[in-house]
Amino acid sequence: MSDSRVRNKSRSSAESRSGNAVGNADRKTSVPKEKTPAAKRAAEVKSGAIKNAEGCPLAKKCGGCTFQGIDYRQQLEKKRMLTGRLLGSFGHIEPVIGMNDAGEKPEYYRNKVHHVLGFDRRGNVLSGIYKEGTHEMVPVKECLLEDKKSQEIIRTVCKLAKDFGIRIYDEDTGYGLLRHVLVRRGFHTGEIMVVLVSVSHQIPSKNNFVKALRHAHPEITTVVVNINKRTDSMILGERNETAYGPGFITDELCGLKFRISPDSFYQINPVQTEKLYRKAIEFADIQGGTVIDAYCGIGTIGLSASSQADRVIGIELNGNAVRDAGINARINGITNAEFHKGDAGMYMEKMAAAGQHADVVFMDPPRAGSDRRFIESMLKLAPDRIVYVSCNPETQARDLKLITAGGYRVEKIQPVDMFPYTGHVETVALLSNRRPG
Ligand code: SAH
Repeated sequence: MSDSRVRNKSRSSAESRSGNAVGNADRKTSVPKEKTPAAKRAAEVKSGAIKNAEGCPLAKKCGGCTFQGIDYRQQLEKKRMLTGRLLGSFGHIEPVIGMNDAGEKPEYYRNKVHHVLGFDRRGNVLSGIYKEGTHEMVPVKECLLEDKKSQEIIRTVCKLAKDFGIRIYDEDTGYGLLRHVLVRRGFHTGEIMVVLVSVSHQIPSKNNFVKALRHAHPEITTVVVNINKRTDSMILGERNETAYGPGFITDELCGLKFRISPDSFYQINPVQTEKLYRKAIEFADIQGGTVIDAYCGIGTIGLSASSQADRVIGIELNGNAVRDAGINARINGITNAEFHKGDAGMYMEKMAAAGQHADVVFMDPPRAGSDRRFIESMLKLAPDRIVYVSCNPETQARDLKLITAGGYRVEKIQPVDMFPYTGHVETVALLSNRRPG
């Protein structure tokens, strides 16, 4: 959650309207007659004159959907090529697993929707996203990637904030309270968490505001106020106060239940996550033994793999996520998994120093990838197999270089499309130890 710092100042209402609601769909462009229909369409899409079937008027402004206007099969092909370019030298790349099985649609897949709050000159409360790499908020009324229900809830938060006279925080002056709204929805369970990020826990008419929000959306199961006084780019502060419900949601994945706290990491595309985890676990070929889930978050990968292992050890830096992981083991009746708070590299170093062995290491680091220390300690621990799940093939390529130089061979690489309409791709790489001891 380290989006670049933005200004929550919205532009004039006229501008925001054109950014929100008025698409480019009905504008005409002149296209030379001699172009083929396909070239014509490509030119129109490129010029922003038409949308693809599911087009978005904000595509150019927000910068999130870089694959907007591109046919989904072509998107998958582009991701295969990208993965091939960055990782092809390590081994064979399987075709990308897309969101195109029967009944699947590669839209509205985000189960976590975060909007920054702003306001216009008339005092209307607007919500939107950070324009990539800038300090600007792009007001968003509708997004093709975000869960629809969550978007509805955010629109209600904006309306109620105005009705209740709750001031929106202004980064420039430091006045106001509400900064962001975050909605997380368990796609399997339907549970919904609304997180209101505020400079202070003292929000005037908070109880009535929450009541009105629940009245408008009875499906909300918990509301949390997160207090963030920080002036850096972090969206969530450290303190959470539960205003309604249990303060977390539970979702289901791979047949297990997972409790998710406001700031715990949870994959944002649940349909694809199941495919990703199943592939990672298939690659791991676990036959008992000790399995490490490094960068484990709320324990999703390790717990999903636990029935095949003798022992699962998860390591995670975020204290709330580790607590969730421990509880997740318990609520699923899993007794062979333990979770530790700390740096995954340091933990493995200690294991190696104590002469312990691990059969499989799952590693799923953040976008920045792993670090040298992690890789060195993993090489010391020398597991038989490493399953490297990555959301950034560039840092994965850098790390694979070190791991292969340390005696491992890349056996397979499987890209999974977790983020349709964006240029991002997730990959799972299986590595085996060439010098098993
Ligand atoms: N495997 C999980 C989480 C992946 S996200 C899932 O699929 O849901 C990466 C996680 O790594 C985050 O939860 C982050 O808090 C954690 N993390 C980051 N640096 C770490 C480190 N040095 N050691 C352990 N965990 C770390």
